[in-house]
Amino acid sequence: MTQTATFDIAVVGAGVAGLAAALGSAQLGLRTALVGPRVPVDRAAAAAPFDVRIYALAPAAVGLLEQLKAWPAVDLSRVQAVAKMRVFGDSGSELSFDAYQAALPTLATIVEESELLRALGAAVGFAAELQRIVGTFDALQPQGEATRLLLAGGQAIEARLVVAADGSRSSVRAAAGINAHELSYGQTAVVANFACERPHQGVALQWFDPAEGVIALLPLPGERVSLVWSAPHPLAEMLANEAASLASRLAPRAGPYLGALTAIGPARSFPLRRISVDRLVGRRLALVGDAAHVVHPLAGQGLNLGLADVSEMLRVLAGREQWRDPGDPVLLRRYERSRAEPVGLMRLATHALARLFARDDAVSREVRNLGLSAVDALPPLKAALIRHAAGQGARR
Ligand SMILES: Cc1cc2nc3c(=O)[nH]c(=O)nc-3n(C[C@H](O)[C@H](O)[C@H](O)COP(=O)(O)OP(=O)(O)OC[C@H]3O[C@@H](n4cnc5c(N)ncnc54)[C@H](O)[C@@H]3O)c2cc1C
Repeated sequence: MTQTATFDIAVVGAGVAGLAAALGSAQLGLRTALVGPRVPVDRAAAAAPFDVRIYALAPAAVGLLEQLKAWPAVDLSRVQAVAKMRVFGDSGSELSFDAYQAALPTLATIVEESELLRALGAAVGFAAELQRIVGTFDALQPQGEATRLLLAGGQAIEARLVVAADGSRSSVRAAAGINAHELSYGQTAVVANFACERPHQGVALQWFDPAEGVIALLPLPGERVSLVWSAPHPLAEMLANEAASLASRLAPRAGPYLGALTAIGPARSFPLRRISVDRLVGRRLALVGDAAHVVHPLAGQGLNLGLADVSEMLRVLAGREQWRDPGDPVLLRRYERSRAEPVGLMRLATHALARLFARDDAVSREVRNLGLSAVDALPPLKAALIRHAAGQGARR
């Protein structure tokens, strides 16, 4: 009979959250397995078109990637700092956030998903204590001091702690019997990249419209911008099928700031839903990233929350008493307790905003426009909001 390999930690899912979790736990000296499909490692050619999946990373998320020594592998010529954000309501109200006024170097850093996966994948390749297992998780079997993970194809490994980073449809979460509650927003996000006639000057633009949804244009390096349009399903279907006419649809809003837009590549669509879970932990199990929570992308905070989960998990593991093994329930409770509030707050805030801006009655219109103008007129509140979005409100 062949012996099953035993690890301190098995991370399932090699997306950004899973790669970061595996890298961090290996860097703590814990024997770590990372289970998931193969990660692309090729650097994009300098002239390659920009990935249509881009993330606005908060300073705290970039800080974690720096701490993991993955950030230096990111090609900085493909990264864009956001210096300012302008948010427009539906009755002419405006709210603006400025990194300079909040005494921050940037509000956010725009980076492609493919570039993040590549940089993290390269760092994973150098990590001692980390074994990359190309495969798909199938089932969990509790053992005495560990959990056995069965992979498709019959392979098995054992770990003292399983970290589920396998995304919103997490099969690890389901296998552990943790309930997930899903709510559709009735919207689909259409994403696409454009060349812009005028320099964007590092400014992100966002419009809220009860009929058309939430439209964000995020700055990319050079004279390019990335669109995330969270539109009601029927409109989104039309937009995605007529990518060429997207630019002319955006013209009345974007024109005064960016001049004419020209599509550079096809659009992609993502149906939007909220997912919340009953527990963030189980027996020798912790959920991180989209396996733990899915929020509306209007605030660009989903992956930031996921990387904050990873950061907190690593903090708890690094600070554990010497005699506790990584799957000790006391550690899991520490992790769950410290993530409950930030995850709950972000879920509430993004959900309330998505709902408020989707309603077309007079009261909602008044509340949201008064709200935008009031926040704009209160510099201390604005600075506090910016610091919170930057990940500086939470415990580090
Ligand atoms: C339109 C849009 C815009 C967004 N913009 C932003 C933004 O600007 N900023 C931000 O912070 N967030 C943003 N988000 C949220 C962000 O996309 C997600 O939070 C993030 O991708 C989640 O990363 P993850 O690693 O947790 O999960 P995923 O990226 O889903 O990775 C899960 C991994 O698990 C693997 N996997 C799945 N099942 C198994 C299995 N059985 N066995 C092994 N492996 C498995 C998958 O192959 C995948 O590699 C946006 C989301 C949308 C829809």
